[in-house]
Amino acid sequence: MLADMEDSPPYDKPPLSKDFLDPEAPLPTLVKPGELADAGIDFRPGARATGLDVAGRIVQFEGLAVEFDNLVIATGAAPRGVPGLDDPDLPIGVIRTAESALAVRRAIGPYAVLAVIGGGFLGLEVAATALRLGAEVHVVEFATQVLGRGLCPAAARMMEDLHRDRGTNLHLGCSVTAAHASKRGVELTLSNGARLDTDFVLVAVGATPAVGWLKGSSLTVSDAVDCDSGLQAAPGIFAVGDCARWVNARYNASMRLEHWTSAGEQAAFVARRIASGSLGKCAILPYVWSDQFGSRIQIVGLRGTTTQEIRTADGSRVFVECDDGDVVGVAAIDAPRAVLTARRALTSRGAAPLDSVFPTDTYERTA
Ligand SMILES: Cc1cc2nc3c(=O)[nH]c(=O)nc-3n(C[C@H](O)[C@H](O)[C@H](O)COP(=O)(O)OP(=O)(O)OC[C@H]3O[C@@H](n4cnc5c(N)ncnc54)[C@H](O)[C@@H]3O)c2cc1C
Repeated sequence: MLADMEDSPPYDKPPLSKDFLDPEAPLPTLVKPGELADAGIDFRPGARATGLDVAGRIVQFEGLAVEFDNLVIATGAAPRGVPGLDDPDLPIGVIRTAESALAVRRAIGPYAVLAVIGGGFLGLEVAATALRLGAEVHVVEFATQVLGRGLCPAAARMMEDLHRDRGTNLHLGCSVTAAHASKRGVELTLSNGARLDTDFVLVAVGATPAVGWLKGSSLTVSDAVDCDSGLQAAPGIFAVGDCARWVNARYNASMRLEHWTSAGEQAAFVARRIASGSLGKCAILPYVWSDQFGSRIQIVGLRGTTTQEIRTADGSRVFVECDDGDVVGVAAIDAPRAVLTARRALTSRGAAPLDSVFPTDTYERTA
C-alpha cells in the first residue's frame, strides 16, 4: 500500500519552483495512469496518516487502521512560517505542494509585484522564474547575503550579482516588521523602513520534517525520525527522505538531507533491504542542484574548513571545499564536468587531494 494525504497522483517537487510556475505547465507526475495498479501497488490518495502503534504494527489513517509487516515513513517536510505573516485572509503563501505552487503561479503574471521572504535556493528559484514571467520581484533576506547556508561567500556573491543584474530587488539584512492588507494585496514594512506594496508574499524560510503525526508513538523523533545507519527506526520501520535523520555511513555522522537525489537513494536502499532481508549501511554523498536564470548551481559533498576557487578552461568558476588540502566538496555554477569529476573522485576515494582531482594544467587556480 502507498498512502499520501494529497489527492493527486504522485508528482515531482523540484519543478514546482521552476517550470511548473509557467501558466500552462502540466503537473510533473511521476507515474502514468494505471502504472501503480499494474505494478501491484495499492495507491491511496487522500489518506493522511495520523498515528503509529509500533508494538501493534498498525498505522492509523483518518477513518482507517492498516496493519503492516514493514513500514517506510516518507512524509517529507513542511514549510516554516514567519510570525506576523500568517494571516489567512492576506495573499501570503508557501511552496511545497502543487496546490501551493498554483497559488504562486496565479499571482506572478506580468506587472505583478511579488515579495519573497527568504533568500535560499527555493526563494531565489521562484524569484528568477517570476522575473522571467514579467513580475517585479523583491527578496527580503535576514542575513547580509543570500544562500549563506548552502554556498561559500564567494559563490553566494556570484549568485547575488546574477540576481541584481537580472532585476531582482534584494533587501539584505532586513526582516518584515509589519504586514497589512492593501488595495493591491499586502503591504509589507521592512526593518530598514522600506515599504513594499505587493500582490503576493511567498514565505520561503526553510522547512521542518513532517513528523507531528508520530507524536505518542514510541519512535525516537528528534527534529526528524531518528534511524540507524541502515535507515531503520525500529524493527521493520524505516524512514527516508526529508523526514529521516540517520547515521550516514559515509561520514559516520548523524545527518538529515533535503535533497531530491538522496531521498531517491535512501528509498532504493530501503526497498532492497526489505526485499532481500539484507542488512547493511546507507552511505550517501550529498548532492543538490538549483536552476536559476538558465544557470545550474550544483553542490556535492560537504563544506570544508577552507575554500579554493578554481576555473575551468572555459572560465567557469568552481569553489572547492577542502579539509587539510583534501577535497571534501564542490560548488559550481554551470560547470557540470567539474562537478562530475568531483563526484566520481569522492565516490571512489572518499577525501582526495586537490591537485589529483583538479590538476593545475586543466584547472587554473585563483586567489
Ligand atoms: C518546490 C521545491 C523545489 C525543490 N527543488 C529541488 C532541487 O532543485 N534540487 C534538489 O535536490 N531538491 C529540491 N527539492 C527538495 C526535494 O524535492 C525533496 O528533498 C524531496 O522531494 C524529498 O522527498 P520526500 O519523499 O522526503 O518528501 P516529499 O517529496 O515532500 O513527499 C512527502 C509526501 O508525504 C505526504 N505526506 C506528508 N505528511 C503525510 C501524512 N501524515 N500522511 C500521508 N501523507 C503525508 C506529502 O503530501 C508528500 O506527498 C525541492 C523541494 C521543493 C518543495
